[in-house]
Amino acid sequence: MPRPADPCGTIAAVRSMALAYSLYRQGATLVKIGILAVQGDFDAHARMLASMGVESVEVRTPADLADCDALILPGGESTTQLQFLKEEGLEDAIRKFAAEDKAIFGTCAGAILLATEVKNPHQDSLKLLDMTVLRNGYGRQVHSDVVSGPSTLRKEPLEMVFIRGPVIERVGPNVEVLAEYAGKPALVQKGHILASAFHPELTSDTTVHRHFLDLVALGTPRKTVDVSR
Ligand code: GLN
Repeated sequence: MPRPADPCGTIAAVRSMALAYSLYRQGATLVKIGILAVQGDFDAHARMLASMGVESVEVRTPADLADCDALILPGGESTTQLQFLKEEGLEDAIRKFAAEDKAIFGTCAGAILLATEVKNPHQDSLKLLDMTVLRNGYGRQVHSDVVSGPSTLRKEPLEMVFIRGPVIERVGPNVEVLAEYAGKPALVQKGHILASAFHPELTSDTTVHRHFLDLVALGTPRKTVDVSR
C-alpha cells in the first residue's frame, strides 16, 4: 500500500511517540544527540532530527555534553565558535568526548573546527579529523549555492547547500570520501567523525543525517536510535 503523504510530519511524530513510549515500557534507553548551540544554524539540525523522529539537546557547557551520546557541530562562524569552545572549557570536553569514540558530525564551520589544519587564514582547531581545509575556498561562484554531486550514500546525486563553505584541500590516508563536489571531497569520514563542507540540514533530504545516526548506533549498541524514516 502506498504511504500517505505527511507534509506536516504529523504521522512521523505520532509514530515516533508511540515507538518511544513502547521502548520506555520495555526499559530501553534512547540515545541523546547534542547540538552545539552557541551561534549559527543549530536549530536547523534540531528540526532535521525532529523530522526524523529523533530528539536532540542544545549543548553550551561541558555538563550539557556529558549527558550526550553524539554531537553535531553546526555551520556558522568558526572563529566565533572556536573562541566560545575555548572560553567554556568545551574544547577539552569535546576532545575527551571523541576519545571515548562518541560520534561527532561537523557541518561547514563545524567541519573547519574538526580539521587538523585550517588555512585562509590559519586558525586553531580541535584537530579530530585528518584534513586540510581552506576557509571560504570556493570563491564567488559557489559562494552560496545549491549544487549536487556524487555520493557513496545514494545512487542519485546528493543535493548540497554551500554557504561560504570550506574547500577540503587534502584528506589523510584513512579518511573516506563519501561525497564530492567539483572533484573535491565534500563529505568525509574517519571512524566515528563525520564532516561536510555543505549544509545537509538545509535540505529535505535526510540521507546524511541518517548516515550519522547509523554511526551513532554503531557506537551505542545498548541504546536505541529511534528513527521513523
Ligand atoms: N565561512 C565560515 C567560516 O569560515 C563557515 C560558513 C558556514 O558555516 N556556512 O567559519
